[in-house]
Amino acid sequence: MYICDMLKTQLKGLSLPELEAFVTELGEKRFRANQLYLWMYNRLATTFDEMTDLSAKFRQQLQQQADLSAVTLETVQKSGSDDTQKFLFKLHDDARIESVLMAEGDRRTLCISTQVGCPIDCKFCATGAMGLKRNLTSGEIVDQILHAARASDKPLSNIVVMGMGEPMLNYDNLMQALAIVTDEDTLNLSRRHIVVSTSGLIPAIQRFQEDGHKYRLAISLNATTDEVRTQLMPLNKKWPIRMLMQAARDYANASREIVTFEYVLLAGINDSVEDARRLRQLVNGIRCKVNLIPYNATLRHFRRPEQAAIDAFYSEMRSLPWPVTVRWSKGVDIDAACGQLVTKAEGAI
Ligand code: SAH
Ligand code: SF4
Repeated sequence: MYICDMLKTQLKGLSLPELEAFVTELGEKRFRANQLYLWMYNRLATTFDEMTDLSAKFRQQLQQQADLSAVTLETVQKSGSDDTQKFLFKLHDDARIESVLMAEGDRRTLCISTQVGCPIDCKFCATGAMGLKRNLTSGEIVDQILHAARASDKPLSNIVVMGMGEPMLNYDNLMQALAIVTDEDTLNLSRRHIVVSTSGLIPAIQRFQEDGHKYRLAISLNATTDEVRTQLMPLNKKWPIRMLMQAARDYANASREIVTFEYVLLAGINDSVEDARRLRQLVNGIRCKVNLIPYNATLRHFRRPEQAAIDAFYSEMRSLPWPVTVRWSKGVDIDAACGQLVTKAEGAI
């Protein structure tokens, strides 16, 4: 349980049994927890005053002893070029994180953060350049989702855990947050519409598989040789490509789910036709999707490939029996890629 100001209990992120423990400690009946649960996670209440079916006395008690807000909205940027909104949130310790809401047809996809910064240190990533400050609490993860649900013109349909941080290093808090928002009494999000993206921590992929919770898995591959991948992603020294592909294959076979491989295209580094051929070979025996992501130029020493190179890479991949897509970052005009707004706000780039 996250204690705020050393006095107040943070309610966001608490499960129903945890809320029951909290209300009974205050001397209230257990069913009050159910009311609180629905007000927070279903009706998206932001104040105790809105919770009109709670007695005035209980509401006052909550006001004094509980905190309903784990993240505070600092700015929203709306893209002029598409329907993307980017939220910058301030946390209780003044750290900042971001989430991005993307609209496409009826689909509303939210990209959420799981850590302040990230310890994995991928050389092309603005979040990686910040280092790790700390893990987010389950409340800070849930509250990003609740804020976006309020700001969205349509119900949220998809969540991608591809914002700041390595989700697998904050596994328990993430899973607690996702269990809350997939509950049919709350936002009722479909587990199949939630994608957790990892840089390739093999033991975590194995745990994800063993837990069998039906969220989808994405793996950031980003290179086709160990030499290049280790330069871009130092964790490759410990978990090289061959081991990673075996873990992905085991996961796909055991879970019968399709894995997504993400591949950020960096000019002159991993975007040659030979790379495309090697990538095709690597994913050949694994039921998967391949997502090519032209680099969103955040750090000076990396560039997005020219369109011709992207097209050549894509054509080489097309003969695969699996779907291959090129994902153009949405909201490019508002820097809606991983880690950019916070680092700009803090003057780091
Ligand atoms: N830490 C997790 C999830 C967050 S990063 C992971 O690495 O998978 C989500 C994706 O964004 C990763 O595939 C990463 O390679 C990619 N990414 C990071 N910075 C980027 C940038 N500037 N342009 C395009 N993709 C980027
Ligand atoms: Fe961390 Fe993902 Fe960025 Fe790598 S790409 S530093 S794992 S957030």
